[in-house]
Amino acid sequence: MYTFDYQRPADLAGAARAGAVADARFLAGGQSLVQAMKLRLSQPSALVDLGAVAGLAGITVTGATLRIGAMTRHSAVAASADVRRTIPALAALAEGIGDPMVRNAGTIGGSLANSDPAACYPAGVLGLGATVVTDRRSIPGDAFFTGLFETALQAGELIVAVEFPIPKRAAYLKFKHPASRFALVGVCVSDGPGGVRVGVTGVKSNAFRWTAAEAALARGGFRAAALDGLALDAGDVNGDLHASAEYRAALVATLTKRAVEQAASAAA
Ligand SMILES: Cc1cc2nc3c(=O)[nH]c(=O)nc-3n(C[C@H](O)[C@H](O)[C@H](O)COP(=O)(O)OP(=O)(O)OC[C@H]3O[C@@H](n4cnc5c(N)ncnc54)[C@H](O)[C@@H]3O)c2cc1C
Repeated sequence: MYTFDYQRPADLAGAARAGAVADARFLAGGQSLVQAMKLRLSQPSALVDLGAVAGLAGITVTGATLRIGAMTRHSAVAASADVRRTIPALAALAEGIGDPMVRNAGTIGGSLANSDPAACYPAGVLGLGATVVTDRRSIPGDAFFTGLFETALQAGELIVAVEFPIPKRAAYLKFKHPASRFALVGVCVSDGPGGVRVGVTGVKSNAFRWTAAEAALARGGFRAAALDGLALDAGDVNGDLHASAEYRAALVATLTKRAVEQAASAAA
């Protein structure tokens, strides 16, 4: 075992102060960070537990925006009447994460900061056109995911909340890894205030928008047939022991069509 400092601040200012120490890491649900520490992939000098920071958890709807606090657990998003009413696809996404223990501990802020290439929320953020709000600025989701387990967050920058514009219709579908339930491929489509969006996870080093599909849906209408013949280049897709690049590319096309059908029929 190696030693590290442990802080449990009660407010945002205290969290920012504690997080400013070199190599300090915020601790949210611990579902990824603690595993990484056990494997020595991460060796922080200090853990800044966000569990007691006031105001970081909670869900509000203001006008056409759904705001979810960074420390909101996946189970709370899945069960929220506000989320189910405004963006049912997001409630379904949260409900499909891991197992009950993971959903009761894991948080939306931790999931986004972690930028796991197979995580569900990154596809949701991109597919729904969300904005990540930190203690320093607002970062458009489109600029947030920058690489494998990498984001636009600066050292010590704390996610406070995520703001989702409420779409006319949306759906999230994933092909689960049978053991972990992470996404072999996950696709979030929406038809919202900014137009049609398609966010994809599980396929490259970080989640991305499938802009060719967005253009096809904008041109041909929000229907699965508008995507006929469209596919990702498998040469640009991850392959591993769980699924070849060709298989993943085919799954993206299939799931995107099914997600469009589901979103269109749910809104009809
Ligand atoms: C068995 C298992 C199955 C899973 N299945 C899925 C799945 O199907 N789909 C899916 O999407 N995910 C899945 N996950 C991941 C899980 O959903 C968690 O969301 C994820 O592990 C990170 O969230 P956390 O709150 O536990 O963050 P932590 O592990 O506490 O932190 C993760 C990282 O985020 C940083 N961080 C945390 N909060 C903040 C913040 N507010 N601001 C800035 N940085 C922050 C931490 O410093 C750390 O670097 C699974 C995990 C496990 C263990």
